[in-house]
Amino acid sequence: MTNIILLGPPGAGKGTQSKKLENILNVIQLSTGDMLRAEVASGSDLGNQAKDVMDAGGLVSDDMIIGMISKRVDQDDCAQGFILDGFPRTVPQAEALGIMLAEKSLNLDHVIELTVDDEAMVDRICGRYTCAKCGSGYHDSFQKPAQEGVCDKCGGKEFSRGVDDNTDTVRARLKAYHEQTAPISTFYGEIGILKQVDGMAEIENVTRQLENIVS
Ligand code: ADP
Ligand code: ADP
Ligand code: ZN
Repeated sequence: MTNIILLGPPGAGKGTQSKKLENILNVIQLSTGDMLRAEVASGSDLGNQAKDVMDAGGLVSDDMIIGMISKRVDQDDCAQGFILDGFPRTVPQAEALGIMLAEKSLNLDHVIELTVDDEAMVDRICGRYTCAKCGSGYHDSFQKPAQEGVCDKCGGKEFSRGVDDNTDTVRARLKAYHEQTAPISTFYGEIGILKQVDGMAEIENVTRQLENIVS
């Protein structure tokens, strides 16, 4: 079992690299952003509470997120391990994760931060889209499918863009990252578990750097 945290601001490549590591390590990606978007789409109470905060680029409450993740890691598909993408995002979330893992007798094997330039993140996020059928991620300039309009992985022809993936929200999300999430790099650095990877490199190159750390 291998349990990993991928850290980095919106657009750093956490989702892209999680998908690659899923295949390499036979573990599962747990994206709190994806989980929240599913809650919003389903119209659940949790989704209704989270929606406005997400639209504004802020962070939803620690309690809500911690409860959601705690339930999720108990499911069978996490038995081989998981990659946390987008969680923890605050120091209280990181502390709660530590307690939660200890209670479940689970280890944290790697905490890896993708380091990137903020300015490049606006272009990355505003150009990203995903396959509506299988969730594979693409980018208008940086990661186009081999055949335009057709998903490489599943052949799907419909794609969607995040409603919160616009310039205004990205600025707010980057601000939230620096104020609330960046301190957790220090938190894990002090425990001595943090590793950093150059997230500005080409996608395949970043994957190789990550493979070197986890394998
Ligand atoms: P990105 O990786 O592009 O920053 P995500 O898909 O991870 O975006 O998250 C989208 C939104 O969901 C965030 O802007 C925030 O409002 C909410 N969110 C996701 N994960 C968390 C979390 N761990 N704590 C609080 N809010 C979260
Ligand atoms: P995050 O999950 O951290 O918010 P994503 O994995 O969704 O980030 O990546 C944001 C966008 O940038 C996607 O469209 C993706 O295809 C693209 N991207 C990811 N990594 C790189 C990279 N190393 N170089 C260029 N573009 C990238
Ligand atoms: Zn697809």
